[in-house]
Amino acid sequence: MSETKTCPHCGKVFNRPAESLDFNWNRRRFCAEACARAALIAKAKSGNKTPYKASNSPITRDEAERFVALLNDGVGMTEATMRVGRANGGRMMLAAIKHGLMEPPPPPQPEPEPKPKRIEPLAAGADETWGAMMPDLNWADAQRQIANMRAY
Ligand SMILES: [Zn+2]
Repeated sequence: MSETKTCPHCGKVFNRPAESLDFNWNRRRFCAEACARAALIAKAKSGNKTPYKASNSPITRDEAERFVALLNDGVGMTEATMRVGRANGGRMMLAAIKHGLMEPPPPPQPEPEPKPKRIEPLAAGADETWGAMMPDLNWADAQRQIANMRAY
């Protein structure tokens, strides 16, 4: 089975070289290295900057100020970011903080968990235990009876 691709630069249809590994063939787009290089140069010269690169440019103080002003007007972070012409609200916040226009958020405070109260062991003969089991015999009498039993 012969596999072919069409070079996006020169339009030439080229065959998969017999020795080409799947990995290399799948990644290959151009008929020749010269075409790959020429296509790269043509793209760079076209000035077609990707939005990703544009959004990665440093955020100016002016942009940060407009962003903070929008937030102060009650505009949501995502909306304010878009209106300034940016894509990443997190970066806008960081820039605003860096430019001294916003207070950095306080570090998250962990919810104070109530410490479990130490449960003291019940004293021997406490009403909660002895009293519940032997309502007709108080602890002191029981102790005395046991002492007498030992005497025999
Ligand atoms: Zn080509």
